[in-house]
Amino acid sequence: MELEDIERCFEAWAPRWTAWERDNVGLQVGRRSRKISKILVALDMTPEVLEEAAAMKAELIVTHHPLLFRPPSSVSDSDPTGAMILSLAEKRIALFSAHTNLDAASGGVSFALAQALGVDKPRFLTPLKDTLAKIAVFVPEQHAEVVAAAMAENGAGIIGEYQECSFRVSGIGTFHGSEHSTPTVGKPQQLEKVSEVRVEMVVPRSRISAVVAAMKSVHPYEEVAYDLYMLENGNPNFGMGAVGTIAKQQTVRSFLGLVKKTLHAESLKYTGSLNQTVKRIAVCGGSGSELLEDAIRAKADVFVTADVRYHGFQSARGRIALIDAGHYETERVVLPAIAERLRSIAKSRHEKLVVTITKQSTNPIHSF
Ligand SMILES: [Zn+2]
Repeated sequence: MELEDIERCFEAWAPRWTAWERDNVGLQVGRRSRKISKILVALDMTPEVLEEAAAMKAELIVTHHPLLFRPPSSVSDSDPTGAMILSLAEKRIALFSAHTNLDAASGGVSFALAQALGVDKPRFLTPLKDTLAKIAVFVPEQHAEVVAAAMAENGAGIIGEYQECSFRVSGIGTFHGSEHSTPTVGKPQQLEKVSEVRVEMVVPRSRISAVVAAMKSVHPYEEVAYDLYMLENGNPNFGMGAVGTIAKQQTVRSFLGLVKKTLHAESLKYTGSLNQTVKRIAVCGGSGSELLEDAIRAKADVFVTADVRYHGFQSARGRIALIDAGHYETERVVLPAIAERLRSIAKSRHEKLVVTITKQSTNPIHSF
């Protein structure tokens, strides 16, 4: 398997366009044609992780947090980031990061956290907004199928677990071609009436140009009539946080114990009454304070996240139990999901790939 195959695997799972606009996800260091047989997965890039990767002869490190946020002005050993880039290049180890795009993916950070805490079938707490468009194209009846298929092949018509979703309505299209026109149906310089189908499909905004190009390539008309409009709907396929129910209702006290044990947290911060019961659980791995109101709106009994400030706890008080379980602790649970995804891709291609989760704790925070 080559590095670009790994990139494609992540692009299908956690596409780059779903990342926060100021994030820097994807290939950080490396050659795309590099053959990959061993991968080390970690939350952060540290010198210890690099040593571990070198010791196991890994060609690739996959991290959640990117090493490079802003373009460095030089790559030298005079700063920690430059030194790391140099070491990666010297040891011929590539680095790939999936950060906020992995937060927004189904089966990503928050889903992994919810599942670790016993939530069966989590759903997104807040779908991503301003990511969808709709395309409506007018096609002669006998070409509707092939046009819809070309659009679907390029990413149109996906709604949650459903693919090839379209709406079709029949009508009459009219046109009057100029003397220079060469109409597929009818003659120039006269009003033609043709039975057409209006095919509508939803499309991620990032796929608009690919879908329009594919649609035009199979559409029989010289001039294709289509409408493109931006949707305000949330995107059911990508979102932030996760919510769902646990099998057994329990008190906040026992749930705190479960969180602490499951996430190997040294300590937890929380607000809420210990005897209150919880069954509906909202989570957001990493810094998820801004989803507090969404968790309350989703009627969750408890919200588990990290990096919560004093005023965040204050605004939760009396409305929802809120647990800060630590940034590292709430995100580390995604590492097995990353490893599993990579292994299954290799398996489906009948290729050998060793994927190891780091033995290092890269958490810079300790409790005393
Ligand atoms: Zn993080």
